[in-house]
Amino acid sequence: MKQKKFILPESEIPTAWFNIQAIMPNKPLPILHPGTRQPLKAEDLYPIFCEECSNQELDTTNEWIPIPEEVRQQYAAYRCTPLVRAYELEEALGTPAHIYFKNESVSPAGSHKLNSALAQAYYAKKQGITNITTETGAGQWGGALSYAAKKFGIDCAVYMVKASYNQKPYRRSIMQCFDAAITPSPSMSTRAGKDILTINPNDQGSLGTAISEAIELAVSTPNCKYTLGSVLNHVCLHQTVIGLEAEKQMELAGEYPDIVIACFGGGSNFSGIAYPFMRHNIQEGKKTRFIAAEPSSCPKLTRGKFEYDFGDEAGLTPLLPMYTIGHTFKPATIHAGGLRYHGAGVIMSQLMKDGFMEAIDLDQTETFKAGVLFARTEGIIPAPESCHAIAATIREALKCKETGEQKTILFNLSGHGFVDMSAYDQYFSGEMSNYVLTDEELAKYQASADALNQ
Ligand SMILES: *Cc1c(COP(=O)(O)O)cnc(C)c1O
Repeated sequence: MKQKKFILPESEIPTAWFNIQAIMPNKPLPILHPGTRQPLKAEDLYPIFCEECSNQELDTTNEWIPIPEEVRQQYAAYRCTPLVRAYELEEALGTPAHIYFKNESVSPAGSHKLNSALAQAYYAKKQGITNITTETGAGQWGGALSYAAKKFGIDCAVYMVKASYNQKPYRRSIMQCFDAAITPSPSMSTRAGKDILTINPNDQGSLGTAISEAIELAVSTPNCKYTLGSVLNHVCLHQTVIGLEAEKQMELAGEYPDIVIACFGGGSNFSGIAYPFMRHNIQEGKKTRFIAAEPSSCPKLTRGKFEYDFGDEAGLTPLLPMYTIGHTFKPATIHAGGLRYHGAGVIMSQLMKDGFMEAIDLDQTETFKAGVLFARTEGIIPAPESCHAIAATIREALKCKETGEQKTILFNLSGHGFVDMSAYDQYFSGEMSNYVLTDEELAKYQASADALNQ
């Protein structure tokens, strides 16, 4: 029998996260205060985020950040996650490539997002915070945070974009199972929500509005902090448990990846699988390629610009130096809800600029075709987001078939698609369309970021 899964015992759950900022040849540019345009200090973030996360956000010196025992204990509910050799996918493709995937879909929340949710909930609890809040669009982050808050005994309030609240009832039910308070946004519970509803009582909400409501709640409520599930440096830091485990598991398999692939929304699962391997490129001259797979409908890495931009639609956040297609970007309603963010995280953007990683964009139908092949060969129905990583992997594996090269490819299976079966329904009914951002649309959105850089 050929070995299919490479499993590590709980005792191998990493004891420290890897902070790539400490070893980057060019450190990220500073995050700027939107009013004064001065670099932000960690203390400037304290009113919004808990202190430990704020400190981690701006830590460019400590290469290893210890993982608290309480967080490792919670990780033990699903970590170490399996590394799996995709023999049947390889066979279906007829490729000489060896394909491995790290299965983050086994977490109780069904995705990698719990790796950071648990850390953020723990640090909040430790600081004496009693409530945490956030926004959620598709609902994956809200689900992960609800679970994490429950585990650490704090209350969780989620503002869910009203359109999703009505269209994605199962994600809402998941959050309810974990005891979160869910408010459809816009709501009458905040100034920001009231302002919008006064003008249009039927407003269906947007991620931008939900962010504004959650931040308003956090800064106006004692002992309440805001949390984010992607993009920010501390979130990407927490995800490095994925790659640190994978590194040991690849060793068990007796291989080292030539190519590492992940789907890309704000960049947290990409960071998680990539950075621990990328450190060997930076420090030892290894030549692994790192590929971020993004949707053609939201092509910030492949067609965006590296410049300062707001992190949110309303323009309330600090200015972030990043690849962006403009904060006024209005995403098409593709199914990979987690990949529709207009910018890339600050660290990934610098690494991209410096040539340490590459990116490709993919049409929605190609990604679902890949997802279905993966389900039929490897038996796991992937999240629409993860389908992008699979499609990118298949492209590389087919290149190997042409050239006869036996490369080792590792991708991150960021989550499963159980709550997204309606997306698969649409694919099977032949009603799925592709949305490629036109040059005109791109120019219009990009102008909103360009204006901040003059
Ligand atoms: C949220 C999400 C993503 C995208 O977020 P990143 O921060 O880019 O990783 C990808 N896959 C799944 C399953 C998600 O829930």
